[in-house]
Amino acid sequence: MGLIVQKFGGSSVANAERVFNVASRVIDTYDAGNDVVVVVSAQGDTTDDLIEKAKEINDRASKREMDVLLSAGEQISMSLLAMAIEKLGRPVVSLTGWQAGMNTDINYSRARIKRVVGERIQLELDKRKIVIVAGFQGINKYDDITTLGRGGSDTSAVAIAAALGADLCQIYTDVRGVYTADPRIVPEATMLSEITYDEMLELASAGANVLHNRSVELAKKFNVNMEVLSSFEKVPGTIVKEENTVEKMLIRGIARDNDVARISLVNVKDAPGKAFQIFSILAKKKVNVDVILQSIGRDGNKDISFTVATNDLEVALNTLNANNSIIGAETIVHDDNVSKVSIVGAGMTADPGVAATMFEALYDADINIQMISTSEIRISVLIDRKDAEKAVKAIHKKFELHD
Ligand code: ADP
Ligand code: ASP
Ligand code: MG
Repeated sequence: MGLIVQKFGGSSVANAERVFNVASRVIDTYDAGNDVVVVVSAQGDTTDDLIEKAKEINDRASKREMDVLLSAGEQISMSLLAMAIEKLGRPVVSLTGWQAGMNTDINYSRARIKRVVGERIQLELDKRKIVIVAGFQGINKYDDITTLGRGGSDTSAVAIAAALGADLCQIYTDVRGVYTADPRIVPEATMLSEITYDEMLELASAGANVLHNRSVELAKKFNVNMEVLSSFEKVPGTIVKEENTVEKMLIRGIARDNDVARISLVNVKDAPGKAFQIFSILAKKKVNVDVILQSIGRDGNKDISFTVATNDLEVALNTLNANNSIIGAETIVHDDNVSKVSIVGAGMTADPGVAATMFEALYDADINIQMISTSEIRISVLIDRKDAEKAVKAIHKKFELHD
C-alpha cells in the first residue's frame, strides 16, 4: 500500500466505454488500499481538433489564447472520469492544473513546471478521495493558464509523483510498453522489460513519443519509479529506472522524428565568431537548434546547416533573414521534408562498429544521409522524410532487434 500516480493518455479515455475501463482500473488500485492520483489527457484527437478549430478563427492566434483553448480538452476528460468513478461509488474529486498547484514558467505552449504545490491534492487524499488532475496544463505567475507542449501529460504525472513522493508513477497508454522501435512502424519490434532513464531520455528526445522527454528528465532528477504499460491489457509493462539489471544490449531502440526542418546558410564568411553570431541570434528568439553541420571553408566561405523543430521554422527563417545584413549569407535555404532517425543504446559507447552498421543498413536500403550527429549513447542521421520508415525498418533488421 502506498501512493500511486496513474496517467492515462488520450486513446485510453477516447470514449465512454474506455472512460469506464480506466475508472475500473483506478478503482482496483484504490480498493487495494492505495492512495491514487490520476492524471488524464484530452480524449482521443481532441487536442488536434481544438487546434483546427482555432485555425478556422485565427491561424496566428496568440499562444496565450491557444493555451486557454487546448487546456479545455483535459478539463473535459478529468470531469468525465470523475463522473464515472462517482457512478461506481467511490469518493473522487477532479482538479484543474491551477487547483492542483501546477506552477509553471511563463512560456505559453511549452511551459516547464517549476513547482507543484501539492497541498490541495494531499488534502483530498487525506479524505481518502481518488484525485484526478488535468494533465498538460499549469498556471504561471500572471495567473494565466499554460500548457506543457504536446504529449506533456506524462510530465504532469511525473511532477506530481515527485512532489508527493509517490511510490510509483504508471503511464498507461495504447501499447504494452517501450519497444525497440515504434510498433506501428515495425510490428515485430521487441518490448523492453526495462530501460534506463538515460536511454529513454535519448529515445524520447529523438522522437519516440511514447514518453514526453521532459517527463523522463524529471523522473531521473527525482528518482521516480516509472512504468509504461497498457490501459487495455493487464500485463507488466516497461520499467524506466537508473540502472539496468537485464542483459546489456548494444542498441536499445530506434526512433524517428518528423518534427524537424533543415536550414542552410550558404556561403557565409569563414571567420571566427560566425557560428556564435548565428546561434545567439536564434537563441534570443528561443529557437532550439539540434543537428549542426559546418562545411570546411573554401575561398574564404563556408556553409552552416542545422535543424530546428518544424514549429520554430518560420520564426527561425524570419529572424535569420532579418539579420542577414550582419550574418552575410549568400542564400538562406530550408527543407521541411526531412526526418531524423536515431539509434540509442548505452552499450554502443564501447563498440566502434555500431555507426558503420547503421550506415550500412541505410546504404543497403539506398537511403542518402544528409547530416549526422552523435552523443555518447545515440547516433542520429537526417534523411528524406519519404525514406524515414524504410530506414527504421532497415536498421531494426540489421541490428536483429526483432522479437
Ligand atoms: P498517449 O495518448 O497514451 O500519451 P502516445 O500516442 O503519446 O499515447 O504514445 C504512445 C504511442 O507511441 C504508441 O501508440 C506508439 O505508436 C508510439 N511509439 C513511438 N515509439 C515507440 C516505442 N519505442 N515504443 C512504444 N511506442 C512507441
Ligand atoms: N492532450 C495533449 C496532447 O495531445 C497532452 C497529452 O496528450 O499528453 O499533446
Ligand atoms: Mg503521449
